[in-house]
Amino acid sequence: MSRFWSDHIHALQPYEPGEQPKQKLLKLNTNEHAYGPSPKVLEAIAAVTNDDLRLYPPYDSAALTAAIAELHQVGTDQVFLGNGSDEVLAHVFNTLFLRAGRPLLMPDITYSFYKTYCSFFGVPAELQPLADDFTINVADYTRSREVAPAAIIFANPNAPTGLALSLADIAAIAQANPDSAVVVDEAYVDFGAESAVGLMQQYENIVVIHTLSKSYALAGLRVGYALASPEVVAGLQRVKDSFNSYPLDTLAQAGALAAIQDRADFDKKRAAIIQSRDELTVALQALDFDVLDSKTNFVFARHRQVDAKHIHQALRDHGILVRHFNQPRIDQFLRITIGTPEQCATLLTALREILSAQQ
Ligand SMILES: *Cc1c(COP(=O)(O)O)cnc(C)c1O
Repeated sequence: MSRFWSDHIHALQPYEPGEQPKQKLLKLNTNEHAYGPSPKVLEAIAAVTNDDLRLYPPYDSAALTAAIAELHQVGTDQVFLGNGSDEVLAHVFNTLFLRAGRPLLMPDITYSFYKTYCSFFGVPAELQPLADDFTINVADYTRSREVAPAAIIFANPNAPTGLALSLADIAAIAQANPDSAVVVDEAYVDFGAESAVGLMQQYENIVVIHTLSKSYALAGLRVGYALASPEVVAGLQRVKDSFNSYPLDTLAQAGALAAIQDRADFDKKRAAIIQSRDELTVALQALDFDVLDSKTNFVFARHRQVDAKHIHQALRDHGILVRHFNQPRIDQFLRITIGTPEQCATLLTALREILSAQQ
């Protein structure tokens, strides 16, 4: 608190990121990639690390924009880049969600940053409870309402559940809400779900958000993007250019371009993570965990007997960080990022010790 703060700062409820520990712990708590980025990313960054850093970066990130447009088979005027997808999401909230008297619809359990942005921008949200099996209840978003929502947002696969919605369900939501933006945050889509990008041709209200933080192993570089109709992108550009014209620095543009172009490295590493996820799921089930059907690089798991808070702390004592959300309905779950096979083995050894001490 400070008497120098602007009035609205006192009421802010900032996002709480997973811990980035000072000491050496096995970090399975923030869904970072188990492996490093493509070696070509490091080369590309090194190649632009020179005196030219005195120059501003290309303000339109033209080369990166073109590569992303080609990857997703959309126009370059349908790509909007930002300093991580969190920044892209901030501009999306500001550009699309503030429409007088019309609420934002989103699941009660989803990426927690959405609630932070609602309070920051003053977006009225109507939370739609997930079903008992933690799936999104599509009917909540397709039924007719007196007031059309300003927009709908959810992560697909959802976080922290890891569960994915089908494209048919997303199409039904878009179809039922032609005057509302339908924002699909696909931070984890590369780990096994279907992308809604292909639906954009038919439904101009769909906005898809991607990040290089998870499947491209570049959380440290801060690159995310939105794919949307040219009109929506033009609105996002307006907001961006009223805030920060150069969100992507020279190194980020070069590194992200190299990452997107190295398909072989991307495919090899994501396949390894998917395999580790499926193996870890089976191993956790054998230890008496219920594990939701993950399409991401994490699993969301609940032990049938032992309290999640206890396991969370005991793992920490073993030098392993996982994520626990002290939140109704999910407080008996742990969200565990998929590590390398060795890291998964370390986790399982620790869990066996912790659980056998409880019997
Ligand atoms: C990690 C994550 C983000 C944020 O990604 P950045 O690009 O690193 O800002 C956004 N949405 C979801 C659902 C995420 O899990």
